[in-house]
Amino acid sequence: MFQKILIANRGEIALRVLRACKELGIQTVVVHSTADADAMHVRLADESVCIGPPPSRDSYLNIHQIVAACEITGADAVHPGYGFLSENAKFADILAAHNITFIGPTGDHIRIMGDKIEAKRTAKRLGIPVVPGSDGAVTEDKEAKRIAAAIGYPVIIKASAGGGGRGMKVAHSEADLEVALQTARSEADAAFGDDAVYIEKYLQKPRHIEVQVFGDGAGRGVHFGERDCSLQRRHQKVWEEAPSPALNAEERSHIGGVCARAIADLGYSGAGTIEFLYEDGEFYFIEMNTRLQVEHPVTEAITGIDLVHEQIRVASGGGLSVRQEDIRFHGHAIECRINAEDPRTFTPSPGTITHFHTPGGLGIRVDSGVYSGYKIPPYYDSLIGKLIVHGRNRVECMMRLRRALDEFVVDGIRTTLPLFRDLVGNADIANGDYDIHWLEKYLAEGE
Ligand code: ADP
Repeated sequence: MFQKILIANRGEIALRVLRACKELGIQTVVVHSTADADAMHVRLADESVCIGPPPSRDSYLNIHQIVAACEITGADAVHPGYGFLSENAKFADILAAHNITFIGPTGDHIRIMGDKIEAKRTAKRLGIPVVPGSDGAVTEDKEAKRIAAAIGYPVIIKASAGGGGRGMKVAHSEADLEVALQTARSEADAAFGDDAVYIEKYLQKPRHIEVQVFGDGAGRGVHFGERDCSLQRRHQKVWEEAPSPALNAEERSHIGGVCARAIADLGYSGAGTIEFLYEDGEFYFIEMNTRLQVEHPVTEAITGIDLVHEQIRVASGGGLSVRQEDIRFHGHAIECRINAEDPRTFTPSPGTITHFHTPGGLGIRVDSGVYSGYKIPPYYDSLIGKLIVHGRNRVECMMRLRRALDEFVVDGIRTTLPLFRDLVGNADIANGDYDIHWLEKYLAEGE
């Protein structure tokens, strides 16, 4: 087991990882920017190192500073959290070259999944169902027209280097295709310095369903069921639940089994999420994230297994603590992402939290690094906390969520809490009847 883990992140996830380390009796080091000197994870860590000024590129993305912090403090492993350097293959390689363990997969696995064309090709080879489309990058317009006609309109053009929903364009007919290709290519080139694009069938009312997987790096793979993250705004997840209201036990165990076998065949190590669009009973792979997800607590709630403990175990060579048959699903869990944003316009609302009171009671978990008097710096993303509610079934979970939202108090700034209070009373949400476009339509109607 590791002696000392350096946590290369901030906010709620830094605290989340710190808690797991403490439980496992591992010393903790956190790094932070000058803007985060007062953060909760800095207060609670055994050691902390200031690695630079507020902008992320000078601090949380500064590989040299982070490696230097490992060497100064004698950390033998790094947990990257999510975002920042968590899917940076070069960072994983550099740590390996310094004999520091990256708590995550190998640099090569990160690289494969970071390139969407390569990821899709790999998924297909491993027997994971993918969205019908081009086999690789499409360079000629003529070829694009032929492929689009074969799969049928509408189609979506996506950037191979894509992320965050950038470089994606939908074409509804051949007349739109040339412009869509050109725009996607130039957006991809501007955003990622790589203009490679590919074509897929555009699904019109899919759900976003993702499978939590784990590999032990030695050929064993397991799945922890799925999460439904269809409630999104601008491709950003807002509300996540496990299990998906749309799947039955048979579908769950089928897609989970496919994913677990793929992870085993890949020789993958650590936590991963295989993301699908789901429509009319079919799954279509869209991408794999090679890290812990923001929404991992809903999976923890229904399985009772600490996924960060598992990540640390696997990275230290101790293997997984569970076999597939040990992973059972109990009840239902929902996570609300509470952002420091206006609940109608979603403009960021940094500033001082004058009063912060979290709900409690059976089945309630709040993961947050903020506190009364905390000043939210304007430099980072606006997530200030996650409310995770568990119940014996979805109805109980929703009742408990409504009560928890009523108790939650955040004063001094604007937050997205009112949005969740609306959603929890909505009939479609109560019925679990929504797809990836539902939330944007709902918000547009309210304007
Ligand atoms: P990114 O990495 O940029 O977030 P993804 O491939 O994960 O891109 O897709 C992001 C979102 O775009 C999906 O959650 C979905 O809403 C939409 N999307 C992607 N591919 C398709 C498709 N083939 N059909 C319909 N919507 C799609």
